[in-house]
Amino acid sequence: MKKTRGIYLHIPFCTGKCFYCDFFSVSGNPNDIFSYTAALKREIAAAACFTEKATTDTLYFGGGTPSLLSPVEIADIIETVRKHHDFSAAEITVEANPEPQLDFKGLKAAGVNRISFGVQSFSDEVLKTAGRRHTAHEAEIALEKAAKVFDNISVDIMLGLPGDAPEAAAASAVRAAGFSKHISMYMLKLEPGTAMYERVKTGKINLPDEDAAVDSYDACMEELLKRGFHRYEISNFSLPGFESRHNQKYWDRSEYFGFGAAAHGFIAGKRYFNPSSIARYLAGENYGAGRAEEEVISSEEAAKEAIILALRTEKGLYIPEFEEEFDCNFRLRYAEELKSAASFAEQDGDYFRMKHDKLLFESAVARLFI
Ligand code: SF4
Repeated sequence: MKKTRGIYLHIPFCTGKCFYCDFFSVSGNPNDIFSYTAALKREIAAAACFTEKATTDTLYFGGGTPSLLSPVEIADIIETVRKHHDFSAAEITVEANPEPQLDFKGLKAAGVNRISFGVQSFSDEVLKTAGRRHTAHEAEIALEKAAKVFDNISVDIMLGLPGDAPEAAAASAVRAAGFSKHISMYMLKLEPGTAMYERVKTGKINLPDEDAAVDSYDACMEELLKRGFHRYEISNFSLPGFESRHNQKYWDRSEYFGFGAAAHGFIAGKRYFNPSSIARYLAGENYGAGRAEEEVISSEEAAKEAIILALRTEKGLYIPEFEEEFDCNFRLRYAEELKSAASFAEQDGDYFRMKHDKLLFESAVARLFI
């Protein structure tokens, strides 16, 4: 079955830097945003002439803080996508900081049908230590207002932040579940160069240990399962029918464009990377101009990638499709690896997947296939 394409748009502007963040984001004034969105529209248009057309059904505004764009700017970008790509909008997501003053009706009128809020925690103490610029109360008001306009709301919760503990994390998951149909739970990754990294290294703050972070994950999952959510990927939970269609494209190796500075895409078997520099991006270094860095994925690497990505999902790897794509017998080709993975992963009919209670060990199993 031919898979549909997705489009990711990177909006690299934020009003401040969260202490743990190592994403590509900068502060920007309205002029910067204007020049950037103009370049983004040029890239969207140019990319359409640069590769074969394919049905595209998801659009994801990520960042950064895409909700810094006005609904008019977002509508304009969506219109550019419609004009140049074979776009039938199944899902248009905008990531947003949970700010009560956001124009939710305007976003809906612009064509957006899913909002993903970076809440991270409903503990003010945890939010403050993480350098977030909202309070738990503001997040609740924003979610309440958004829920009056949008049916499809996602909330990000971050685990392992300083000051967090399993009970507080579970309480955050419960509050998030009250307003949303999709919850992403990410473990903090302490990255060198971030303000939090320095504070931890100099002993100014402490992180919960790994066991406590895993306990938080389990406590959150228990609350979410009780409320009808199901886990469909290691970090993602939803009510039935509210799985993120866009993110699933990454795990099943569908094609996607990544537009904007620091965005990357996967088109025609190649991965490409736009520069992590607004100046270079504005100067025209992008996929559509054919000047983005590219990496050709060999069939061997593509096969490994397919297994590793599928191991993150509850569904797992669909063996008949894999065997057709890579012209092999899965069980024979990976006999050694399957034997070594046997206590963590299982073959169940046509699927190869992590055992339900072992999903958190997927990276250890993935390493067997590298
Ligand atoms: S809002 Fe998101 S992208 Fe911006 S600084 Fe915070 S974590 Fe980074």
